[in-house]
Amino acid sequence: MSEAKIEKNKNYIIDITDMTHEAQGVGRLDGLAVFVDGALVSERVEVKIIKLTKSYGVGKLIGILRPSPHRIEPFCQAYKRCGGCNLQHLDYQAQLDFKTGLVKDNLKRLGGLNDVVVHDTIGMEQPYRYRNKAQYPVSMVEGKAVTGFYAARSHDVMQSDECEIQDAHSDNIRGVISQFLDEYKIPIYDEKSGKGLLRHIVTRVGFNTGELMVVLVINGRQLPDSDELVRRLLEADRGAKSIYLNINTEKTNVILGRKNILLYGSEAITDTIGPYKYMISPHSFFQVNPIQTEVLYSKALEYAGLTGSETVFDLYCGIGTISLFLSAKAKKVYGVEVVEAAIEDARRNAQLNGVANTEFIAGEAEKVIPEMCSSGIRADVVVLDPPRKGCDEPLLKQLTEMQPDRIVYVSCNPATLARDLKYLCSQGYKAVEVQPVDMFPWSGHVECIVLIKRAESRMG
Ligand code: SAH
Repeated sequence: MSEAKIEKNKNYIIDITDMTHEAQGVGRLDGLAVFVDGALVSERVEVKIIKLTKSYGVGKLIGILRPSPHRIEPFCQAYKRCGGCNLQHLDYQAQLDFKTGLVKDNLKRLGGLNDVVVHDTIGMEQPYRYRNKAQYPVSMVEGKAVTGFYAARSHDVMQSDECEIQDAHSDNIRGVISQFLDEYKIPIYDEKSGKGLLRHIVTRVGFNTGELMVVLVINGRQLPDSDELVRRLLEADRGAKSIYLNINTEKTNVILGRKNILLYGSEAITDTIGPYKYMISPHSFFQVNPIQTEVLYSKALEYAGLTGSETVFDLYCGIGTISLFLSAKAKKVYGVEVVEAAIEDARRNAQLNGVANTEFIAGEAEKVIPEMCSSGIRADVVVLDPPRKGCDEPLLKQLTEMQPDRIVYVSCNPATLARDLKYLCSQGYKAVEVQPVDMFPWSGHVECIVLIKRAESRMG
């Protein structure tokens, strides 16, 4: 390889031919792959090489000599500095196409799956203001409290008055608190020294109920003048339904501490997905894009192909959202999840909705499944919704031995999905179709759902 010709800190012109799952453009210089943040496929760009190794280089985008026809002006002023979105320079339809392509590519390259149907990614009609949860860091910059977002790849907090992917009420609440912090000279937490009080502002919004929760994360036990803040939060906008202090005195990147103190109102807010109501507490996991979640869960229901007589395992069930969604069409749904608090939420949610045919079990799926099998419980349909690392092979092995007719796999990582599908296909299963759903417009994240059938299916 002739990489000796390429030098660090020098500028080069390259053609971008590919894009990574992190939405970096990729081009080649003398055969060496060069990764460029902010560059798009089909563009000719000038880059400055800022990192060089034997196997790849990293280029900083200096100029665009031939822009992509899909390049657009980012709608957010803070886009260049903020670590949140990374695809605002690509038009929305092209983003959806990029995500479909990424899924196809992973399934072929890593899964060896050539004949599975991958549908076009389902996007949002209005891909703005879709997030129901905001976590604003707070920091003191030049004597002023700054509330906003972390700059890309750092913990420097930048002021942001508006974030167009957040619900507008979250932005509004952040503004009210910001004003209060300045007027009442509230001490702000300093990450380096571990001193100061207010660390984060967390807001959660029920999209369909309009209910609002505000959580103030503090390094202490009390917030001075909190009565005044509560008064302002109740007057603001539609008014908060639930206001908490969360105590986090650890030196950690984890946002919430363990202890919550209710300052005002209800212990939880509720929201609905489809016909079901869910309770949301400060620590509850809940999908952040409720509109697309309904799209995704409806697909799960369709792919599960239930007739009313089936037993379903919903593995990695979180607070039981998918379990409830499937319950009306199944005989029985067992939800399995490792976080105990989530299982408690799941049971509460089943009760809240008057659903009697679900059972929730706390534990690791790979440990719980063998116990269920040995006590004679077997599933006709299994839903899997694992974290990014996918499923452990021993779990997949146990599942295939149980021979469910259908497996519905919800994945947020096409690479581990491809690996797991490859295994399932080697054990008598067939990946029939894949539906990507865009849960995170303007970012490179890809979510998809897969229908997998046993080669000799009884259900059809
Ligand atoms: N299906 C849910 C949540 C999916 S997120 C929903 O749609 O809302 C993935 C979940 O898997 C998380 O709640 C995580 O706590 C859980 N998890 C991670 N490892 C696990 C394991 N080994 N066994 C069971 N659950 C696990």
